[in-house]
Amino acid sequence: MEKLIITVATTGGLTTRDKTPYLPLTPKEIADEVVASWKAGAAVAHIHVRDKQGRGSLDYDTYVETVGLIKERCDIVINLTTSGGIDAPDDVRIRPTDLKPELASFDAGSVNMGPGVFVNSMPFLEKLAKACQENGVKPEVEVFEAGMINNALMFAQKGLIAQPMHFQFVLGVPGAMPGTPRNLVHLVDSLPPGSTWSVIGVGKCHLPLATMAIHMGGHVRVGMEDNVYLKKGVLAKSNAEFVERIVKLAEEFERPVATPAEARAILGLGS
Ligand code: ZN
Repeated sequence: MEKLIITVATTGGLTTRDKTPYLPLTPKEIADEVVASWKAGAAVAHIHVRDKQGRGSLDYDTYVETVGLIKERCDIVINLTTSGGIDAPDDVRIRPTDLKPELASFDAGSVNMGPGVFVNSMPFLEKLAKACQENGVKPEVEVFEAGMINNALMFAQKGLIAQPMHFQFVLGVPGAMPGTPRNLVHLVDSLPPGSTWSVIGVGKCHLPLATMAIHMGGHVRVGMEDNVYLKKGVLAKSNAEFVERIVKLAEEFERPVATPAEARAILGLGS
């Protein structure tokens, strides 16, 4: 089995300080949390930025500042969001790929999300896939519903996404696939051969799904974008606490944790 890649998603676009006072918002706070998570064992950082009021943002200069602060201090793989958790125009969503991160999120279809709709039309995805290709960015194919695997395959067949692809299953979002063991197994069984995959359990399903992924040979994402509680009623005081718990579990399962360099090799980055 490959080593375990732990991704940390420190901030997201929607989590608020009302939900947890420990949420990092500024470039410096985000960088500090990423570096602490890297020290704890995270190999990939999925980055969102916020505006001065703490709202979700895709501001290019804030990305540049945040990524710069992280790269000064550690070699973690950078994965930039192209959604921001906000309703932004296509060109604003695609712009982060100009920064040439090693990974960028590629949300492979539209889906209900709480009261809203997360729109990812096929024309938008085609533009995003091309921008990733031009900038040497590997798409992290985020899958909220089973049909999205097929959407990604269509782009692979057009030559717009290289195979093997890397998938990130997002389970437990209100409006999309619930975070059940059966759903995870079905998604993994539906992947093209040779793909790598990771799982995000939103809310209380994060720990059961992470444990399954460790056992099944997948990878794991944790952090305050997805969940703020370590256990019922207990807020995590840092993103690193989530990473530390996955490292401990991986040790129990005798599955070694990947360094950033090992994660690059597993995901075929920079090749
Ligand atoms: Zn995100």
